[in-house]
Amino acid sequence: METIVKKIERKALKKEDFTEAVKILRSGGLVAFPTETVYGLGGDALDASAAEKIYAAKGRPSDNPLIVHISSKEALSVLAKDIPAAAWELADRFWPGPLTMILKKSSIVPDQTTGGLPTVAIRMPSDPVARMLIEESGLYLAAPSANASGRPSTTRAEHVYEDLAGRIGLILDGGEATIGLESTIVDLSGEKPLILRPGFLSKEDFLGILPEMEYDPAVVARTAQKEIAAKAPGMKYRHYAPKGKLVIYEGEREAVAAAVNRAVEEKTAGGFSCAVLAAQESGAAYTCPNVKIVGMREREETIAAHLFDVLRSFDEEGVEFIFSESFSDGHLGEAIMNRLRKAAGYQVVKV
Ligand code: AMP
Ligand code: MG
Repeated sequence: METIVKKIERKALKKEDFTEAVKILRSGGLVAFPTETVYGLGGDALDASAAEKIYAAKGRPSDNPLIVHISSKEALSVLAKDIPAAAWELADRFWPGPLTMILKKSSIVPDQTTGGLPTVAIRMPSDPVARMLIEESGLYLAAPSANASGRPSTTRAEHVYEDLAGRIGLILDGGEATIGLESTIVDLSGEKPLILRPGFLSKEDFLGILPEMEYDPAVVARTAQKEIAAKAPGMKYRHYAPKGKLVIYEGEREAVAAAVNRAVEEKTAGGFSCAVLAAQESGAAYTCPNVKIVGMREREETIAAHLFDVLRSFDEEGVEFIFSESFSDGHLGEAIMNRLRKAAGYQVVKV
């Protein structure tokens, strides 16, 4: 299958830009599209065979459910049942935006879309390109991140092409995703509300509406603990991992730089190719010739926005050992470190 890349001019969105994409989606095919979080790989959420195509294109295990993307809040009552009042309040407060809610599914949602679960994940994205695609198609779009399963999520159309060319009909190229990390997933289907995946929105953002909100224990785990089963099936899989070995260093800045410089020297002497992942504020402290600046600690949203792009660049360069700083403070810290710890397989050196 040939994969068409269609550039979208954001300043002047035209219906014609979506014609081909809509045709593909309505005939059961797949289209990758930008959202404010990461790129999504979309298919008709109510068509079981489209959902199966998504799993096949990504190489994703079929027990890992898909998030259904909608363009109006009313769709909630079509896709879900027994909707608690708090879900409507969260929708009013955070939609459109980077919030996914898990609710009991209505019977029209096929089991393939929800990986066999009795619940469904729903999000209304704010990206105008995503919204227009959903509206023009007249469908609800099941759309997991548009990466090959296990690889870092995609924040640019080029990443999607790298992973999925030849496997999907079309990629809408709307430039770089602004947030760069996947949505915050909140489970409202159980007795107590739980955050199953941290994202741009964190626990504090929800306390006004749901004071009892907690993180799923698997989310805040600092090690890969087999005894803590993640409630979001996707969180249990190896994820975001670059091909090289990634290790996170935690501690005082100078001590981290000294330890990383020693490790790089040792691996380089052994003939391995090394790189360092650092914040702008401390990048100059490293002797390694390949230092990738992921963003600024002062503005942690810049770190979130570029994390996946930088992790992917290590693969392109064939880097064998990656030494990373830790970015654990601030509002986005939980979300950034959740992705980075998984990418490192929980390998953390405390100095
Ligand atoms: P992705 O869009 O690729 O980031 O994947 C969607 C994430 O949402 C995965 O981690 C899924 O496990 C999670 N998810 C989707 N539907 C459900 C659900 N019904 N219950 C729990 N987690 C879900
Ligand atoms: Mg994903």
